[in-house]
Amino acid sequence: MFRSLITGLPKVSKRHLFQRNYASTLAFIESSKDGSVSRSSLSLLAAAQKLSNPITAVITGSQAGKTAQALKSSFSCNSLEKLIIFEDSKLDTCLPEELTPLLVKLLKGNDYSHFVVSNSSVGKNVLPRVGALLDIQPVCDVTVIKAPKTFVRPIYAGNIISTIECPAEKKILSIRTSSFAPIPEGSTDSVAIEKGTDIPPCDLDVTWVKTIVTKSERPELTSALNVVTGGRALKDKDTFDKLLSPLADVLHAAIGATRASVDNGLCDNSLQIGQTGKVIAPNLYIAVGVSGAVQHLAGMKDSKVIVAINNDPDAPIFNVADYGLQGDLYKIVPELTEKLRN
Ligand code: FAD
Repeated sequence: MFRSLITGLPKVSKRHLFQRNYASTLAFIESSKDGSVSRSSLSLLAAAQKLSNPITAVITGSQAGKTAQALKSSFSCNSLEKLIIFEDSKLDTCLPEELTPLLVKLLKGNDYSHFVVSNSSVGKNVLPRVGALLDIQPVCDVTVIKAPKTFVRPIYAGNIISTIECPAEKKILSIRTSSFAPIPEGSTDSVAIEKGTDIPPCDLDVTWVKTIVTKSERPELTSALNVVTGGRALKDKDTFDKLLSPLADVLHAAIGATRASVDNGLCDNSLQIGQTGKVIAPNLYIAVGVSGAVQHLAGMKDSKVIVAINNDPDAPIFNVADYGLQGDLYKIVPELTEKLRN
């Protein structure tokens, strides 16, 4: 207190200074098949920058080197200091049992104050395992970073937004990447690329059997700028495809779905948006025959512009919509598609 009065500066304890000097972030960047950097990885780095620490990013898989080069030469991230790459094809599948020992080794061997992953299926699989092995409580689905230990996250399907303070010395976080604008294009030439070695073996008897990929020419749902979503009102698979595809084509949009559409067999479950599906925030979201249940809103309400087409004027989707078209979707959707095409 005395020193504060003399210098006019707030009193800073030695312990605080120590922590500040050593604050640093480890970010896990998910590998891609073609070595490109996904939009969600760019948003993860944007979130990591808000922690105001130097960042080390770890990239795994056979394309890790290519991804690291692409990141370094095409994007600007001032806080990024180092990229550690583990170029091993056995990490291509991001099997959590194989990734976890590697990440735990990195976190134990270095004094990182923060560890961040995307709140994707990979991140959701890895983070609890890392937390259990390090005995740290993860903070999941962070949408705002207020300070290095103060985070905002939705709970109860987004009905409550909680601000929490995390006193743990090491903080491990999963980030809702759709809540953070990606780092901009540019370059980060000064960043060092280091080859990681000694990948710890996976001591669990787990083998990746096969990958079944749904082929689609459309943009990926979580990174698409425009999304057209079909609800239960579309009745069957044929109607779902025939009505939504032309509209999605003219908008270069991805197609999404509600859980009711998935449960009724109108489309694949990889299209589900919501509390138990994907969380997205595109520039344009068109909801076709979607009621707007809270569990669905949890996955799309951060979209920039929401358009709702529904014949029920009291449908809750109209409460979050910027533009509402009240009427029969079987008339409105073809008409809208035609107008947009022209
Ligand atoms: P409905 O609620 O049946 O809405 C159909 C809408 O279409 C209605 O508003 C109706 O007015 C309109 N309509 C009908 N005919 C026409 C027409 N001709 N023209 C125009 N409009 C028309 N749901 C999700 O979406 N994602 C989730 O992740 C999810 N997770 C869940 C988790 C839990 C634990 C639970 C309990 C539920 C979850 N749900 C989820 C389900 C959710 O509660 C709703 O049941 C679901 O979202 C409803 O889907 P829908 O809007 O397609 O169907």
